[in-house]
Amino acid sequence: MKTTIYFRGSLSSCNYDCPYCPFSKNIDSRETLAKDHLQVRKFVDWVKQQDRQLSLFFNPYGEGLTHLWYRDALVELSHMPHVSKVAIQTNLSANLDWVGQLNPLTAAFWVTYHPGQTKEERFLQQCHKLYTHNVPFSVGSVGVKSSFDSIASLRKNLPSNVYLWINAFKDKADYYSDEDMVWLAQIDPYFSLNAQDYNSLGMPCRAGESVFYVQGDGRIKRCYKDRQVIGNLYRDGLEAIAKQRPCRMNQCDCYIGYIHMESQKLEHIYGEHILERIALWEGSYIERNSNMANRPPQFGENDNSLGARCDFTGTSG
Ligand code: SF4
Ligand code: SF4
Repeated sequence: MKTTIYFRGSLSSCNYDCPYCPFSKNIDSRETLAKDHLQVRKFVDWVKQQDRQLSLFFNPYGEGLTHLWYRDALVELSHMPHVSKVAIQTNLSANLDWVGQLNPLTAAFWVTYHPGQTKEERFLQQCHKLYTHNVPFSVGSVGVKSSFDSIASLRKNLPSNVYLWINAFKDKADYYSDEDMVWLAQIDPYFSLNAQDYNSLGMPCRAGESVFYVQGDGRIKRCYKDRQVIGNLYRDGLEAIAKQRPCRMNQCDCYIGYIHMESQKLEHIYGEHILERIALWEGSYIERNSNMANRPPQFGENDNSLGARCDFTGTSG
């Protein structure tokens, strides 16, 4: 059975200050950053010693790629033969000169666009770098109404074969009108999957059995929501901890959780790219090139969205 590990170290700072985020412009002390560095290093060393197939996902509280140790970890992990996936959630603001060192067959990015924090042109240039290095990525944004115009513009200027997801804003009840829902579904055909919360109490879920949430110090929880600690990676190992665990929460409301519910069966939408949230529809750059070991084509190759290439490079008017 393939094992998925989400890893989150002590980092809780970011170079952006999104109004909807508790980590915006938080500044970590030198000690905290050093601790996070050691935690990431220890995790990479642990992975190196394993012989089971692993899919790994870094979801830091904040931005990891502005720190060298996350970039190094991704490169190193992507080349380990038993690592079938290593992905990270990122705002993609960091220097990307290093992405050519990644193994594009295993590395992937979950990229979030935060209008107001970066210019669209700069963001598209960053995406273009991933594209030209054949590193798979999804792009998404938080569906707050103040971002609708920016989301529409991004959708227009991203190549049509790059999936753009929208995270439903759930902090306010009845936030979206029927019209909003129709529009959002035009941007992200799977928006309705994210807009709902799933009744999960007692339901079978792979969390705690083949999916684990590991904290920097090795403490393991089953998922993003259930705070119960079920063991320690470095003390107990996964074999001793893994077992079927029905969900203890009333509802599962986040993509990184509900994709692991047995009842969801979302692999038909995302296939092997479910962790980094790349939907595989006919024409998506991953699907179209599945017989090319999942490598995306060079930007614009055989692609009607060639005009968008210019937008990516910022050279078109
Ligand atoms: S980029 Fe992400 S982590 Fe940083 S402030 Fe925005 S939402 Fe928070
Ligand atoms: S259904 Fe969601 S909340 Fe429940 S255990 Fe699975 S991931 Fe966690």
